[in-house]
Amino acid sequence: MDSSSALRSRMGIAQDRFFARMAMVPVSSPCPFAGGSMDPITSPIGVTVKNPLALSHGWSLELTCPTCQKRAKPRVTGWVPSHELHFGNTPTIYSTLHCGHCGTDLKAAAGDQLVELFSPVAIPAENRLLLFLFVAALAGLPIGFCLFLALGIWLEWWSSAAFQWLALFPVLAGPLIIWFNRRVATLRQKCPCSQPDFEFMGMLGRSYCHRCRNCGDLLRLRD
Ligand SMILES: [Zn+2]
Ligand SMILES: [Zn+2]
Repeated sequence: MDSSSALRSRMGIAQDRFFARMAMVPVSSPCPFAGGSMDPITSPIGVTVKNPLALSHGWSLELTCPTCQKRAKPRVTGWVPSHELHFGNTPTIYSTLHCGHCGTDLKAAAGDQLVELFSPVAIPAENRLLLFLFVAALAGLPIGFCLFLALGIWLEWWSSAAFQWLALFPVLAGPLIIWFNRRVATLRQKCPCSQPDFEFMGMLGRSYCHRCRNCGDLLRLRD
């Protein structure tokens, strides 16, 4: 995991805690990647605070069992976090999937189907634009600010001590990461069927693979 991924991951957990604090209940198992906890958080007074970054883990497609050769929807009993590194088109399945007939673990079969389904799916243009703006802001703002400081020192507006202000940038990166992750998450609230209900099936490389339970639309997102 590179340092920006690690930072984003930490921010994801920080956001979980923030939403949990709003609802006055503790977060039991924060997700290790920027997807947040799985469930909406309900406060003692019954108000549900929906974490906009929460992923809805699941698998509602049929799989062929390599042991008994039966083809059916797998038995889904939850999901487990993974700290694996994701590159290229390597699939990572988080849901725990077993054959309903013989109990065989179907993670490998699911991984193969994830590659087959999502390899031809492109990252939406809106997501690519957000990614570009995020990287440009993360790299461009400190560079622009350095040039501004250097200009000020050259024109004797301020001393070289002004470079201390650069220490502010790691602090400013936090809100930028939160803004970016939330904007990417809003792409899951739109679907051609107008009733988006996206199920998170796993990751292909560093992209998140979602499928609408209502219409089967496939959505591949990068954050
Ligand atoms: Zn089986
Ligand atoms: Zn849909």
